Amino acid sequence: MSAEQKNIRQTACNLCFVNCGLTVELGGEDGREIVKVRGDESHPTSQGYICNKATRINYYQNNAARLTSPMRRAADGTYEAVDWDTAITEVAERLGRVKAEHGGDKIFYYGGGGQGNHLVGASAMGLRGALGVKYKGNAISQEKTGLAWVISRMIGGMTHPELHHAQVVMFIGKNPFMSNGMDRARPFLREIKNDPDRTLIVVDPRRTETTDFADIHLAVKAGRDAWLMAALIGHIVQSDLLPMAWLEQHAMGYEAVIDYFRTVPVDEYAAFAGLDPAQVKETAGIIGRAQSFAIEEDIGIQMAPHSTLTSYLNHLLPLLTGNYGKDGTMGMVTQLAEVIAMHDSRLDSDGRDQLQTLPVTGAPIISGLYPGAFLAEEILNDHPERPRALVVESGNPVHSLPGANNLRKAMRTLDFSLVVDVAMTETAREADYVLPAASTYEKWESTFFPRNFPANIFHLREPLFTPTPGTLPEPEIHARIIEAMGLVEPGEFDDLRAAAEQGLEAYRDAFFAAMGSNPKTGQLLPYVLYRTLGPTLGEGEAPTAIIWGLCQVYTMKYSAEAARAGWTGPNAGNDLFRALKDSPTAVVIGESTYEESFSRIPNAGNKLQLHLPELLEEAEVLRELQPLMATSQDYPFSLVAGARRAYTANCIIRDPRWAKGRQVTALTIHPDDGEKYNLPDGAMVKLETDMGSTLIDLAWDDRMQPGTASVPNGQGMSFTGEDGNALPSGVYANELTNPRNRDRFAGTPFHKFVPARITLAETA
Ligand code: SF4
Repeated sequence: MSAEQKNIRQTACNLCFVNCGLTVELGGEDGREIVKVRGDESHPTSQGYICNKATRINYYQNNAARLTSPMRRAADGTYEAVDWDTAITEVAERLGRVKAEHGGDKIFYYGGGGQGNHLVGASAMGLRGALGVKYKGNAISQEKTGLAWVISRMIGGMTHPELHHAQVVMFIGKNPFMSNGMDRARPFLREIKNDPDRTLIVVDPRRTETTDFADIHLAVKAGRDAWLMAALIGHIVQSDLLPMAWLEQHAMGYEAVIDYFRTVPVDEYAAFAGLDPAQVKETAGIIGRAQSFAIEEDIGIQMAPHSTLTSYLNHLLPLLTGNYGKDGTMGMVTQLAEVIAMHDSRLDSDGRDQLQTLPVTGAPIISGLYPGAFLAEEILNDHPERPRALVVESGNPVHSLPGANNLRKAMRTLDFSLVVDVAMTETAREADYVLPAASTYEKWESTFFPRNFPANIFHLREPLFTPTPGTLPEPEIHARIIEAMGLVEPGEFDDLRAAAEQGLEAYRDAFFAAMGSNPKTGQLLPYVLYRTLGPTLGEGEAPTAIIWGLCQVYTMKYSAEAARAGWTGPNAGNDLFRALKDSPTAVVIGESTYEESFSRIPNAGNKLQLHLPELLEEAEVLRELQPLMATSQDYPFSLVAGARRAYTANCIIRDPRWAKGRQVTALTIHPDDGEKYNLPDGAMVKLETDMGSTLIDLAWDDRMQPGTASVPNGQGMSFTGEDGNALPSGVYANELTNPRNRDRFAGTPFHKFVPARITLAETA
C-alpha cells in the first residue's frame, strides 16, 4: 500500500519542547486516529529520533474528555451547554463590563499554549490588546523566569549550549534520558559515553537514567546545588584557571566576581552540598582545563531553593572560563519569535534591576510575565487594584500552580473567568464560561521553542484532522470576541482585505502603510492579520497569517542570518512564509555565526556582563551554611513534587491510559527509608505536607537518595472514561505544594523540595 493509501503524514510531537518531527499513520474510525508513529527522517534536527512517549500521542488527540460545546456555569454551580453565538455574546459582554468598570489591567491572562501549540499565544496578543490586559503569566513564569532574568542581563539573547560538540558537558537539574529537552538525547548520551576524549558531568541527587551514562555523577544533597556551583567556581578561580586575556576582551564585571570567589571556602561548600571536596575539585579542574565546555540546566534547579542564584552560578561557570562564542560552547540563536522574551532591565546607578511588580503582592514581573505562585494571593484580598477577571487559554493553572486549592477558591471570587481549552480541565471547572478549542492536531500549529545554533529551524504544521465538531481554533474565538465587543468598525480593514486579494507582495506594502496610519492595526495585530490576510490563504489556513507577520519581522531584524539560509531580497519574508507553509517538516530559517554571538550582545562594547550585584550579594548567604528549605522531625522527607518519568510529559489533558506501568504514578523512596520508617514496597501510604495529604502507592527505588521522595509530574488530572467511570491518574501534586515557598527574585516555586511526611495508610 502506498503512503497516500495508508494516509501517512508528517507532523511534530507535542510532548516536550524539542518537538521532534514525526511521521504518523492515520487510521481507525473515520481515519481520525494516529495509529502508528515513527521519527521523521527528513526533520533537520531530530533526524528520525523520537523517544517512547511520542508513540502514544493518540491518547492526547482522542479521548473521552474532549469538550464539544461552549459551557456556561449556572447559579447552582453546574454547567450547561450553550451555542457559540450565545457564549461569545455573553463572554464579550462580561469582559467588556469588567474593562469598563475596573480597567483592562484588572483582567489577568494565563496560558497561551502548550508544548505543541503556540499559535494560540501569538493570536491572543490581539485579544489582550483589545481588552487592555497588562498582566500575563504562564508555565514559563513558574519555571524559567529566573533563568531569563539572568541571561537577559549577562548575555542579552537566547543561547544554545552546543552539547553535541562540547568536550565537557554538564547537566544540572536535568535527566534528559527521561525528560529529553535536547535534540536526540539518548543517542547523545551513548555517543559521549563511548568517547574517551569527552566527559559527561551530571549533577543530581538521584542516580538517574542519565547519570548511568556519566563520567562524573555529583550526587548533591537536595536543595544545595548553589553551594556546589559556588565551590566549583571557587576552585577554578583559586587555581588561577581563568582565561584573563579572553575575559578582558569579552567580559565586564569579572573583577568583582573573581574577588568574591577567591574567598569562597571550597571544601566547606562541597561538604555542605553532600559531596567529597576532592571530587568537586577534580571536576572543577576538568571544567577549567576543558577545550570546550557546555552546561544545560533545567527545572530540577529552576524549581528548587536558590533557583535564580543557581541559574546565575550556572552561567558564571562557562562565561568565566571563556566558554562562549566558539565551537562546543554556546552561541546566540535567532528565533522566529521568542518563547521567553528577553527581560527589559531598568538598572539603577548600582546596576540593580528595578523590577516592575504586580500591584497587590509586589510579585516580580520578569520577561513580561507574573509568577503564577502569586496569582491566588493577588486575587484573594480587598485591595482596589486586585484582578477582577481571569482569561485562561491552553493552560491549567489550578492543576499546575502551587497551592491548587487557593487558586480554585480565588477564581470563584472573581467578577468573571473564562477558560478556552480542549477539555473540562481542573481550571475550567472553576470558570464562568468554557469555550472548546480544536486540538493541536486539528489546526495549523507550531511552537516557538527551537533554539538551535548555528542554523535554527521552524516547523509550521498543517492539521492532521479537521476540528472536532463543536470546537473552534483559538484565533477564530479571539476574533469573534473582539468583534462582539464592538472594537472594530464595519469595513475598518477592508483596504487590507483588498490588498491581500492581490497577493502577498501587495499585502506587505499595504500592511506596513496601515501600521503607520491606524494605531489599531498594531494594537489588534494578530486579529487584523487573521481577518484580512487569513481568508486568502486557503481553507482552514487563516491562523497561519500571524506567521506571515513574524516572517516579515524576522527577515528584517536578522537579515544576514536569514540570507545565509536563503531568505534574501525584498521578498525574503514572503519567501520564508511560503516555504514554511509548503514544507511538511521543519525549515531552516537562519544561520548565525560565532562573531554574531558577540556582536549581538547589547551591553556596552558587546561585552558579557558577569557582575549581577543582587545575585553576587545573595551568594553571601551561602556562607551561613543554612539550607533555604529543610526537612524536620515532622516532615523528614524532601519531596520532588513532579519528576519526569518514562510516561510523564507536560500537563496537556490526555487519557491516563497513555502511561504504562505502576512506576508511572507511584511515590518512590529509597529502600533504606522503607526499612527505617517501616514503609514496605507496594504499600498504600499517606503522603502529607503543610498544605494537605493524599493516599498513594509506594515503590522502593534504590536510585533515590535516602531522605528524598518523589512523585511524577503532570498526574492527578481527573478523567472520566467512555463508560462514565473515573480513571485513576496518580497524585495531584499541587494540592500538596505551598505557593509561599518560592524564589525571592523570580517567584518560581520550590516544587523540587517540599518537606513531607509518609506514613502507612492503615495506621495514619
Ligand atoms: S517527548 Fe520530546 S524527545 Fe520525545 S519524541 Fe516527543 S518531542 Fe521528541
